Amino acid sequence: MVGGILVRRIGKSAGIVTKRNLSSRPRLAIVGSGPAGMFACNGLLRKSYFAVDVFENSPVPFGLVRYGVAPDHQEVKNVINTFDNMFQKNRDRLKLFCNVNIGRDITFDELTRGYDAVLLAYGSYKTRQLGIPGSDSKNVISGSEFVGWYNGVPNVPTPDLSISNVVIVGNGNVALDCARVLSTASSGSLKISDIPDDRLAVLEKAIIKDIKIIGRRGPENVSFTIKELREQFKIEEWDSKLEVSEEDQKNLIESLPKLERKKKRLTEVLVKNIGIASGLRQCHFLFHRVPKKIVADSAGQVKELVVDNTENGRQETLECGLIIYSLGYETLVLDGVPQNQDKMIDMKDHCRVNMSLSCPANVYATGWCAHGPRGVIVDTQQQSIFVADQIAADFAHNRKSVASGVGMLLAERKVPFISWDAWKLIDQQERDQGKLTGKIREKFTTFEKFLSK
Ligand SMILES: Cc1cc2nc3c(=O)[nH]c(=O)nc-3n(C[C@H](O)[C@H](O)[C@H](O)COP(=O)(O)OP(=O)(O)OC[C@H]3O[C@@H](n4cnc5c(N)ncnc54)[C@H](O)[C@@H]3O)c2cc1C
Repeated sequence: MVGGILVRRIGKSAGIVTKRNLSSRPRLAIVGSGPAGMFACNGLLRKSYFAVDVFENSPVPFGLVRYGVAPDHQEVKNVINTFDNMFQKNRDRLKLFCNVNIGRDITFDELTRGYDAVLLAYGSYKTRQLGIPGSDSKNVISGSEFVGWYNGVPNVPTPDLSISNVVIVGNGNVALDCARVLSTASSGSLKISDIPDDRLAVLEKAIIKDIKIIGRRGPENVSFTIKELREQFKIEEWDSKLEVSEEDQKNLIESLPKLERKKKRLTEVLVKNIGIASGLRQCHFLFHRVPKKIVADSAGQVKELVVDNTENGRQETLECGLIIYSLGYETLVLDGVPQNQDKMIDMKDHCRVNMSLSCPANVYATGWCAHGPRGVIVDTQQQSIFVADQIAADFAHNRKSVASGVGMLLAERKVPFISWDAWKLIDQQERDQGKLTGKIREKFTTFEKFLSK
């Protein structure tokens, strides 16, 4: 049962084809239900006769929309409504199989034998490590762990937020999301979001007064986007400043006329916020700082980060009770999928995977697993619409199929998948629970809750 809901076991009743059916539609398997897979799926269902099975490792769908996008960006999370509509409208030919890991429960080779086409859309989820002495100290966590924790990923350890100084390593949007959530939680503004109650209580009790966001390179190299950057500077009760050298300030200002529009606007925001943070709550943006060593106290908890300041050649010690490092993600290549020399999926062109001629299915890839962990959802959407067009074109004259899916294998292996209907019941329960306290939803945060019998 899922919070009182029966999790469907695979088989005829789950509505999937388990026997060869010569007159059936061409069949596509999508690996991953994040934006990349879902936008491609939406495009494809509109343009083709495909029947689609979506396989998702997590117990619930939609990837980073649920477990990555910050809880104060509900307008971004609303993209889930588009995906919901897609499933509702296409119940006859679109199936969801959450809690199924491709690689563990079903191999990639088995997928290629069960479907006419396979679309890889499994994202990039391996966090780049800090890799310096002391990294294993308590309260040294990756940005994805912290983001996962406040977004309700099941069974994630709780960070200790009863500290006053935090260092965030990294100059991308994930670093800004972490800083913003830490700086705004005590104001009560996240109360109505979908941060799980127990995790919100920890955030609200935090006593953090000082956040340092550090980057290895100069301010001209940040990967922030303007919306997230502005949000940090606007937080009331926090003084957030770019603490840069005169030379960096001069270079930023001089670069302005030469920059293209988007970068120029971002740089203008950076320049406008140069200064020294002061007051009760401070957020310092520091540059040219390379982490060298973490020093822990006698209980093994981080107390200092030692960095090299490559601008003045000095070593500095940054006092901190929590380090969050956000250095980006690495793409893992699923077993059986060809890999290139950069350890990425070996692509033949923008969307087709370079499979051997003996592979029985056409294999495509899109989103972060195909092109690396870059870009916001709109970028991912554009790539995925293109991929959908290509798949539809490749199968324009192929409307019949002998593919039989992987239903038999899931049944034999007794994989307790969570279907679309089961997800909708979970969704409803979470929303109902949230309503009781005026929240968008109260997320389930343990696997047991999703899968309990
Ligand atoms: C912390 C964070 C915050 C972000 N905030 C924003 C924002 O505010 N606005 C914005 O526009 N963009 C934001 N983005 C970017 C956005 O999330 C990405 O552009 C988008 O999610 C990439 O889509 P994807 O489908 O390629 O990957 P994902 O969203 O990661 O989806 C991949 C899916 O594949 C599943 N999967 C992985 N392996 C397997 C397997 N072996 N078998 C089955 N399933 C598998 C995963 O569980 C996941 O559900 C954010 C990104 C991060 C990391």
